[in-house]
Amino acid sequence: MSMTFSGQVALVTGAGAGIGRATALAFARQGLKVVVADLDPVAGQSTVDLLHQAGGEALFVACDVTKDAEVRQLHERVIEVYGRLDYAFNNAGIEIEKGRLAEGSEAEFDAIMGVNVKGVWLCMKYQLPLLVAQGGGAIVNTASVAGLGAAPKMSIYAASKHAVIGLTKSAAIEYAKKRIRVNAVCPAVIDTDMFRRAYEADPRKAEFAAAMHPVGRIGKVDEVASAVLYLCSDGAAFTTGHSLAVDGGATAI
Ligand code: NAD
Repeated sequence: MSMTFSGQVALVTGAGAGIGRATALAFARQGLKVVVADLDPVAGQSTVDLLHQAGGEALFVACDVTKDAEVRQLHERVIEVYGRLDYAFNNAGIEIEKGRLAEGSEAEFDAIMGVNVKGVWLCMKYQLPLLVAQGGGAIVNTASVAGLGAAPKMSIYAASKHAVIGLTKSAAIEYAKKRIRVNAVCPAVIDTDMFRRAYEADPRKAEFAAAMHPVGRIGKVDEVASAVLYLCSDGAAFTTGHSLAVDGGATAI
C-alpha cells in the first residue's frame, strides 16, 4: 500500500534535528508543503535547505513551543503563507535528567514538563480550531516508550511522555466526530543528538541501549518518520487515540 494524503500542508515542531528533521523530509518527499518549526534558527533553516535540495517546498518559523504567543504566531504564519494546515507533528522534546527521582531539581521538572507537555498542549490548542474549521486533519504527537512504562533515572521525562499520551487520547475522543485524528508515536532509543548526548559518552551505555531492543540495535530516524506518515495518511483513517510503539520489540518483552 502506498501512502496517500488528502491534505497538502504539514507542520513539524522540533524539525531542526533528529526525528523532526527526518519527518519533515519524508513529508516533503510525498509532495507536501512543510512548515519547519524549531527553537534553533540555524538548525531549522538547515532543515529547510535540505528540503529545498530534495525539491520540496518549505518554510522555517522560529518558535519556542513553551511560549503561548510564539505558538499562536507560528499557526498564524502557517495560515498566512499556505492558507491551511492538514497535518501536525508535535515533536519538540527534551531530556536532561542525570539521576534518580530524588536527585532531580525543580528547574529540570519545569523545563521538561514545559517543552514535552505544555508545548504539545499549546500546539494542539492552536491546531484543533484550524482543523475543525477546515473539516478535518491529523495530528501526531511524539511520546516515547517512556510514556508506556517506567524509565529509571528519567522519571520526569517518563511522567511527561505519559502526559503526552493522556493529551493525545483525550483530544482524539473530543474531536473524533470532527474528522480529526490524534495519535502518538512512542519511539524507543533512536539514533539522534538526544541519544548521543545521553549515551555516547559511555560506550557501555551505548551497548546496553542496543541490547534493550529485541532486534539488537537502536532505531533510525526514518523508521519513526515512516510511522508518523502512516498515522497521517488516509491508510490510517480508522486509527485515532492510538500510541504506536516504534521500538524494535522493546515493549513486547
Ligand atoms: P533532538 O534533540 O535531536 O532534536 C530536538 C529538536 O527540538 C532540536 O532541533 C531542538 O532545537 C528542538 N527543540 C528543543 N526545545 C524546543 C522548544 N522549546 N521549542 C521548539 N523546538 C525545540 O531530539 P530527537 O531525538 O529528535 O527527539 C525528538 C522527539 O522524540 C522528542 O520529543 C523526544 O523526547 C522524542 N524521543 C526521542 C527518542 C530518542 O531516542 N532520540 C526516543 C523517544 C522519544
